[in-house]
Formats: sequence, structure tokens, C-alpha cells
Amino acid sequence: MSLSTVLDTIDRSLPEATDRLLELLRIPSISTDPAFKADCDRAADWLVDDLTSLGFEARKAPTPGHPMVVAHYGTEGPHVLFYGHYDVQPVDPLSLWDRDPFDPQIETTAKGKVIRGRGSSDDKGQLMTFLEACRAWKEVHGTLPGRITIFMEGEEESGSPSLIPFMQEHADELRADVALICDTGLFESRTPSIVTMLRGLSKCEVTVHAANKDLHSGMFGGVAINPIRVLTKILGGLHDDQGHVAVPGFYDGVEELPDEMRQQWQSLAFDHGQFLGDVGLSVPAGEQDRTPLEMIWSRPTAEINGIWGGYTGAGFKTVLPAEAHAKISFRLVSKQDPDAIHDAFEDWFTAQLPADCTVEFKEVNGSPAGEMSIENPAFEKARTALSDEWGVPAAYVGCGGSIPIAGYFQTYLGMDAMLIGFGKDDDQIHSPNEKYDLESFHKGIRSWARILENLNK
Ligand SMILES: [Zn+2]
Repeated sequence: MSLSTVLDTIDRSLPEATDRLLELLRIPSISTDPAFKADCDRAADWLVDDLTSLGFEARKAPTPGHPMVVAHYGTEGPHVLFYGHYDVQPVDPLSLWDRDPFDPQIETTAKGKVIRGRGSSDDKGQLMTFLEACRAWKEVHGTLPGRITIFMEGEEESGSPSLIPFMQEHADELRADVALICDTGLFESRTPSIVTMLRGLSKCEVTVHAANKDLHSGMFGGVAINPIRVLTKILGGLHDDQGHVAVPGFYDGVEELPDEMRQQWQSLAFDHGQFLGDVGLSVPAGEQDRTPLEMIWSRPTAEINGIWGGYTGAGFKTVLPAEAHAKISFRLVSKQDPDAIHDAFEDWFTAQLPADCTVEFKEVNGSPAGEMSIENPAFEKARTALSDEWGVPAAYVGCGGSIPIAGYFQTYLGMDAMLIGFGKDDDQIHSPNEKYDLESFHKGIRSWARILENLNK
């Protein structure tokens, strides 16, 4: 039987699929608040029951925190691992919600129908797109395609404390050919995309020491070195006039974007004027020989996130402080090594210190960039499926921030992940009045059916 029968089944059963999502949304599985522990458990039970009804061998796996949901189907064919999270963000401030966050409804808005409620977009609506695709497939074929492992956690919104230990302990059970993560959105709310590049992060705190105590500028000003002046002078040279980071060796391991990807990004017609305009800015301030999308997705950065020292209270105190501080972070790409970046920064900074000054560095846990290998044929199969469903070419995109789970799958299970999601920029995840477009839900289900079809061809 053909894919079109599965897609027709999805269209026809959308009302029932939506009802099931509403049922899951009514469970207030707020992971960070101990008062909702039983509800998190109930959401896990609900998923185990639903997966069992689809023919999965499903179980709730205990952790020191909220349980994992793990399910398996099949022994042959391409093996995918699907990841989502059933926990949600707290709802405060409740007064800003137009309705009870856990009494979800379908609302008709000027932009179309939306599913309103906490977790509708992040991540219950998204994870249900995959389960509903499986349901329609099962209804048509009597089986599910290939081999599928489902892995859902209930602690994503509270820092995933149990995730790594659980993955290490159950690595053999969880390892698949490729992971599918449904917790992201459409590019600019319209173009389906697969995130294949995620920037890493290196962080450090710098303290410059000078005199052995704070000094009076009437008595010592002019003769004593001021550590704030030293700190700002050195950090003032962190970038050159073209926006490049001036630390020697900083760009070691940074790879150029493949031509194919560059073309895809050009075709996204990203409107950086609007992007910056929304936050009251107008001119891209990064490396001047790069496009704004490259600046966000495929180029490393150095940023001063905080700087302090001396007297900052009301009125004036004419002090020459004994020390000055700054917090610096670097977004990393390709093969840049967080520790090597830290060392290079330390060397560059220390070499510029004047007499009588010393410096201390505190390195904070860093993480390398994540880059998926799109040579894996699964990527092109999924991209074609997405293009077919949405009627526009799907793109491989980057993600300026970090989505740690993708890196964990690489590090602990040795597999690449495809981050595919259908959220929109105005979904208000983590905020009052969260919603998920009915279109996202419907076409999301259809997208997974097409992806499963292509992966199993
Ligand atoms: Zn999420």
C-alpha cells in the first residue's frame, strides 16, 4: 500500500489525533516543581500506554528524578531513535494566561487554528507528531516501518540531570543508526529545516589584580596602575576593526561552509534587517566578510558578557580599585577545542599585562560544537521528505545556541541526530499562552510519515 493511503489516514483522523494530544496536555507535568512529581509520572504512564497500543514494547524506566520512557519496535531494517520530552515549563505568571494552561483548547485565530496550552509546542505537540505518524502507518500497513526506538525524558526543562547517566547505562539499548529529535522549529516559521550544526561554548572569568588594596585617587591617582584600565584596554583589542577575533590561534579548527550549504542558506532569504530591527539594531556587527546567517550559525564569537570593578553604587567614590573582573564567553564551531581556546585566550591576555599586575582565570565547563555528517544518506532522505510535504525546499541549517541532547547522542551513543521540528517563532514556548499551530501538528505528522517512508525505501 502506498504512502498516499497513510497520508489520507492522517488527514481523516486528525480530530482524534488532536483529542489525544489535548489529553496529554491536561497532565501538568512541570518537572522543576516537586509538587507536580505525580503528574510527571502520570504523563510517562500515559505515553507508555499509548506506545503499547501502537505495538511497541514500552516501559517507564526509573531514574533518581523523573522516569524515562523507553520503547522498542521491530528487529530489522533501518533503526531510528526518536527523542522528545514530556515535561513542561512552569506556567507563572498565571495572570498573563488567557485560559487555564492545563485546560487546552483549539482556538481559531486570525492566522488560523491553534492548540493553546502549556506544552502544546514544547514538546508534547511535537513528540505526538511522531507517535501519530506511527499510528497512521500501523493502521494502513498493520506494522511499523523498520526498527524504531523511542526515548523520552521528563527532565528537559529542569536541566536533564538524569540524562547522561541513563544514556551511559543503557547505551546498547538506545544506540540506533540515527537519532530524530523533535524539539525545534521551522526556519522563520515557514521553511522546514534540519539542524546540522550547533555551536559549542567556552566560558571564563578574568580577574586583574594590581595594588594590594583599594587606593584614593587624590593620593595615588596618576602614579598607581588602575586594573580597570588594564582590563578594558586588553579587552578592547579582542576584536579587530573588521570584527575578527584577535586572539592568535582562535580560528584553528574552523572550517569553511560547504558550497552546497552556502547556497541553501542564500536561498533562505534571511531578512537580517528585520531580525536586527526587532531588537532595535540595524547593522550586523560580526566579521564583516561574512553574511549574518554565517555569523550566527557557522562562525565563532568572543563576547564580553559582564565587566565590573571599583565603586558602582550611588554617588561617587574616587577609588582606584585593587582588582577588576570580566566574564568572557566564546561560541565555537567546527573542530575548535574549548580547552585550546581557553589557553589561547589566557596566553594572549597575559602577554599584554603591564608591570605590577597579575591575572587569574577561572575556566567554566565548555563544550565543543556539534556537527552532523550529512553524508549519512538518512539526511538527504529526510530533507526530500520535508520538501515534498511543505512544498518548499527544506534546508540544512545551523543553530547559534546549544541543544545539548544532539551532542550527547554523538558523545555517548556515537550517532548523529537530525533535529527536525515544526514549531513557529510565535509559539510562546516557556511563556504564557503557549500554542502550537494545528498546521504544525497536522503537517508535522505527515512529515514524519514521509520521512519514515523514505528511510525505509
Ligand atoms: Zn523542548
